[in-house]
Amino acid sequence: MPSQSPFRIDIPATDLLSYLFPPSKPASDKPIWVDADDTRHSLSPRQLLQWVKRLGAGLQGLGLRKQDVVMMYSHNHIFVPVAYLGISGSGCIFSGCNPAYGVDETAYQIENTTCKVILVEPPLLPTLLKAAAKVGFPKNLIFIFSDKETGTVEGVQDWRTFLPSASEAETWKWVMMTAEQSESTVAALNYSSGTTGLPKGVMISHQNVIANCEQSIFMRDLEQPYSPSSRPEERWLGFLPLYHAYGQLWSIVAAARTLSPCYFMHSFNYVRFLENIQNHRVTHIQTAPPVLVMLAKRPETKDYDLSSLQNVLCGAAPLSKELQNEVSAKCDLKVVQTWGMTEVTCSSLHVPGGRDDRSGSVGYIDPNATMKLIDDEGREIGVGERGEIHVKGPNVCMGYWRNEKATQETFDEEGFLRTGDIAICDENGWYWIVDRKKELIKVKGFQVAPAELEALLLEHEHVADAAVCALQLEHEELPRAYLALKPEHIGASSEWDIEKWMADRVAKHKQLSGGVVFIDEVPKSPSGKIQRKVLREWAKSDAEGW
Ligand code: AMP
Repeated sequence: MPSQSPFRIDIPATDLLSYLFPPSKPASDKPIWVDADDTRHSLSPRQLLQWVKRLGAGLQGLGLRKQDVVMMYSHNHIFVPVAYLGISGSGCIFSGCNPAYGVDETAYQIENTTCKVILVEPPLLPTLLKAAAKVGFPKNLIFIFSDKETGTVEGVQDWRTFLPSASEAETWKWVMMTAEQSESTVAALNYSSGTTGLPKGVMISHQNVIANCEQSIFMRDLEQPYSPSSRPEERWLGFLPLYHAYGQLWSIVAAARTLSPCYFMHSFNYVRFLENIQNHRVTHIQTAPPVLVMLAKRPETKDYDLSSLQNVLCGAAPLSKELQNEVSAKCDLKVVQTWGMTEVTCSSLHVPGGRDDRSGSVGYIDPNATMKLIDDEGREIGVGERGEIHVKGPNVCMGYWRNEKATQETFDEEGFLRTGDIAICDENGWYWIVDRKKELIKVKGFQVAPAELEALLLEHEHVADAAVCALQLEHEELPRAYLALKPEHIGASSEWDIEKWMADRVAKHKQLSGGVVFIDEVPKSPSGKIQRKVLREWAKSDAEGW
């Protein structure tokens, strides 16, 4: 029997803007999205709503229609929430592109999303223009997207040029959605390779976002000494990238919903991170294991006053209980684990926020969701056994954008999402993630799809065949390539030459930091599929000598 959450909550069946800005309640004047470097630079929900209306009206003025995609290629700044909510609120679809991406990766996302407009941060413009030229995207539909007015750069206009004034936009209204529309209207296209293959656009509906925000806040408030209506004031740090679901859910949607000021960092830097916690008296952060490694191991940690910090939510990659407990003890705070993936909007398992759990568990199922664990033979397994998580719930995505085949393969016959993550569950419904069955590699919490790197390696003139997998080290995973060279080119390239060739073509986290190994032949099944189990065995023994 699939296990269900012991809790049920009411999830507002409406659109994102009506959820965050109910007509019955005036929008707050409290600064919520605050520039961590200059706190005078901030947006309150009331100000944000004004910008959202201008953007919504502006996009309509450009001729965009319902469910057209707008891509944003930018680091974090306080106007990113305006883009996310303005684009989705006007019935269009927000798609964030990783600002670490180079020309080819960005071109892929422009083409794959079929976006109609692109918002780009000024320093990324040269890369974007090359990517746009590569796929024939018109320059007049690219706009500079900065938190400060920049004017025209390299012939590209500022996004403010297509916005009506605040007074003109005041009468602009979004369409309030019915329950059915909220479930079937895409708000965001977040990229993920899922259990196999290339990155795909995950269709996240308005209802998915609202549900996952409600579920996450519910789990966060659970077992706390306060009631949700008397939640003490919190201050968050917004350093998770906002092109990713994790950043969107917390730093945009949950911050607006709980009116928690969120101090935005343009990008992550450990010392700035410590300074910001100290200076802004940050109480809560949402993060991934690499930041916990730094908190535990970096000498700078002790130089800062982190006493305001109470609660660290940690997800996005495996976190050992040893590291979790080391950080808890060293910084005197609660580290609360969560598990999720882009396909479930953000999370589906949480340790209750009030619990000081030291067991390495990722907690139990979010309200209104259902899970089952499935073994290799497709049987549902019971307490204490290992199985792949299959999940169903209001936060589970609609499927992959314009990719019916991948969508069908991702859902089982009962409509549960196959996650590719292996877990065990105890008799109380608590889960531990013990392995990953899918191809995905997670580098510092970021996705790396082996299929993408393999396709690129095959473009190298000396490479006959390629297979990529994770080299698993104590606290990190590194992409490692096993390559068969063309016989006539053996000796022509060294392992290092190929690592360098890749480094010129992919974002930093996708580089072959786990090394390159030359082999005679890539292990394949009779049907020609790479035998990933064999690769993992090789990588396991290679990791021992690393
Ligand atoms: P993403 O779609 O980028 O959020 O990546 C999702 C994947 O990250 C999951 O399928 C897991 O493989 C991994 N992941 C997320 N949270 C955890 C966790 N708490 N423990 C272990 N792996 C995790």
